[in-house]
Amino acid sequence: MFSPENKNVYITGGSSGIGLAIVRRFLRAGANIVVADIQQSDDVRELEVDFCRTDVSRENQVAASFEFAQLKVGLLDVVINNAGIALDEGPIQQLATDTIEKMLEVNLKGVLYGLKHAPGYMRDKGAIINTASLAASVTIPEYTVYSVTKASVVSMTRNAAVELARRGIRVNAICPGTTVTPMEPGDGDEAKLCRYTTCAGRPATAEEQAAVFHFLASDDAAYINAQAINVDGGWISGLTGEAVDRLSEVRE
Ligand code: NAD
Repeated sequence: MFSPENKNVYITGGSSGIGLAIVRRFLRAGANIVVADIQQSDDVRELEVDFCRTDVSRENQVAASFEFAQLKVGLLDVVINNAGIALDEGPIQQLATDTIEKMLEVNLKGVLYGLKHAPGYMRDKGAIINTASLAASVTIPEYTVYSVTKASVVSMTRNAAVELARRGIRVNAICPGTTVTPMEPGDGDEAKLCRYTTCAGRPATAEEQAAVFHFLASDDAAYINAQAINVDGGWISGLTGEAVDRLSEVRE
C-alpha cells in the first residue's frame, strides 16, 4: 500500500467530514498536507496542517491556493478535489435560482477549477481524486441539481484522465453513498434509509471513505484510471431483501 511518507498532498474541504478523515489518515501515514477550505475548523487547527482559506467557487482563490501549497510543500503528488455542498432543493418546479447557481458554482465549477490549475503544480505520475457522489448514478427526489453537479464531476474526471495520461497522472472519482458527516448526520432521514437502501444496512463512516482515497492514491491502484468508484455499501445494486419485504408489507 502507498506510503504517503513525505508525499505532498493538497485537499479541498479538508476541515470537516470525509475531507477531515482523509487529512487524518494521510497525516498518520507521514504525508505533508495542505488544506484549502472556506473555513478552518478547530480540528484542522489542532492538527497544525498548512491551511489556505479558499472558496473553491472562485477561480482566482483556487489558483492562489495551489501557489500557497507550492510555497509550503513544493510540487504536489496527490490532489483531492473534495469540497462540496448539498443545499435543500425541494422539487424541481420550486428550485430557487440562487440554489441552482450556488450548487453549480461550488460542486461543479469548484472541481473544474481544481482540475484546471492542479496539473501546473504537480509532479508527473501523481494522482488526482475528485469527490463525486452516488447521486451521479442513483438519486432520490429533490436532489436534482446536486445529482447534476456530481454527474458532471464524473464526466470531467474522465476528460482530465485522458488529457493527463501522457504525464502519468491518474484521475479518478470516488462516489460515496450516504456517509455520516456534518452534511449527513447519523440521525438524519437519509442515514436511516440506509438500513433498506444498502446491503451494508447502514451509512458509511468518513473513515471508510478515507480508506478508499488512500488506496486510489497508492501505487497499488496504478492500473485504475478514469474511474468513478461507488463506495456505497451496495446501494447501486437496487433493493435489498429487507427493503422488498417492507415494500410487500406496505402493499398488503
Ligand atoms: P462536510 O460538510 O462535512 O464537509 C464539506 C467541506 O467542504 C467543509 O469543510 C466545508 O467548509 C468545505 N466547503 C464547502 N463549501 C466550500 C467552498 N465554497 N470552498 C471551499 N470549501 C468549501 O461534508 P462531507 O459529507 O464531508 O462532504 C465532502 C464531499 O463528499 C462533498 O463533495 C460531498 O458532496 C461529498 N459527498 C458526501 C456524502 C455524504 O453522505 N456525506 C455523500 C456523497 C458525496
